[in-house]
Amino acid sequence: MNAYDSFNDVPLHPALLKALVKQKYLVPTPIQRKAIPSLLEGKDLIGIAQTGTGKTAAFTLPILSKMTETHPRTIQTLVLAPTRELAAQIGESFAKYGEFRGYKHTVVFGGVSQTKQVQALQKGVDILIATPGRLLDLYQQRFISLQNVQFFVLDEADRMLDMGFLNDIKRIISKLPKKRQSLFFSATMSPEINNLANTLLSNPVRVEVAPQGATVTKVKQHVFFINQKEKEKLLLELLDQEQVTSVLIFTRTKHRANRVATFLNKNNVAADAIHGNKSQTARTTAIKDFKSKRVKVLVATDIAARGIDIDNISHVINFELPNEPENYVHRIGRTARAGNEGTAFSFCAAEERNYLRSIEKLIKQRIHVMDHKYHSEAAKNAVGDAAKPPPRERFVPRPKGRSSTPQRFSREQRKQSFRS
Ligand code: AMP
Repeated sequence: MNAYDSFNDVPLHPALLKALVKQKYLVPTPIQRKAIPSLLEGKDLIGIAQTGTGKTAAFTLPILSKMTETHPRTIQTLVLAPTRELAAQIGESFAKYGEFRGYKHTVVFGGVSQTKQVQALQKGVDILIATPGRLLDLYQQRFISLQNVQFFVLDEADRMLDMGFLNDIKRIISKLPKKRQSLFFSATMSPEINNLANTLLSNPVRVEVAPQGATVTKVKQHVFFINQKEKEKLLLELLDQEQVTSVLIFTRTKHRANRVATFLNKNNVAADAIHGNKSQTARTTAIKDFKSKRVKVLVATDIAARGIDIDNISHVINFELPNEPENYVHRIGRTARAGNEGTAFSFCAAEERNYLRSIEKLIKQRIHVMDHKYHSEAAKNAVGDAAKPPPRERFVPRPKGRSSTPQRFSREQRKQSFRS
């Protein structure tokens, strides 16, 4: 797959490049850079991205580029959106980017009279943007034919499911030609959404971009520079604070996730770990217990945490910083949801210093440094090789038989001793 730094390098139809010049869009956004090449190659796609990332152009541009004149003024592209506002916005994007391309589009949604929508459909359109209920209504009245659909987009799938559109969507999919290119976008992933994606897509390319701005700025972020060996002690002290009620802890590896959960249990903190080596049942139980607050702490790897959707997490603790900076944004986005306050604590040992530098570069802000009793100036100032994990940590599994019994600490030992 290619990646493009400028729209000039993207093999889009000239009419679209012209529209981009008119819009003064010079540089593709990350989701556009990642999605457009595969879409131009005709691949199915699953995109994890929120509004504001440029996702509409990420699908509108390649579709408009690939559309052909085979069946003029019959629906060749169908886009489903959960709300009339989003449907209207997508319609505007098709108008904007497709200005010089010559295809016709219309938008249909419920809650208004269908007369004008039917008139538009009867004149013939190449692109239809619709909410599911109204689309089915009009289909049943035979105002719509879906037999020539070649490009199908399901936008904001998570919201569609929240709004109870699952059955409508399934019915619509059953009416589409089997041979088509399908695109699926969702801001979040859950097992239910994954299932829907699997029924819709064939061998899809997966593209994920971090939510920009809003999530990151809503979360209070602090970093603790610390020696690797002291992290467990610091963790216990943080968990002892009254306001720390429901905590998602992240590690880079499954092994470390288990180790942290075991350590916490030994120190009388109810904790569970979820990661790829656990069965689906074990994961579901762990998440249920965490949601119901029976378990205060859930320790997770990045991949295991992707599908989980939990509100009311008071704190995210990065016991280990992620090696992919985008994962930091995903991780801290787990707190401060639905208007709640949220705090993210990150532990940074010397060997993670460069990870922190990449994160601060991505989020374009410096994370507040906590003053605490384990503070390590060496970690804070680490550069060069000292700022990277040793190669053995990345490539060689820990030898079997090496003791990994977690330490126990008394309550006195975990006296709170940090100031913000
Ligand atoms: P969306 O995430 O699709 O809702 O897009 C967010 C906003 O970014 C919209 O106002 C777009 O017009 C704008 N936009 C999309 N792509 C680009 C780009 N490559 N350069 C500048 N602005 C863009």
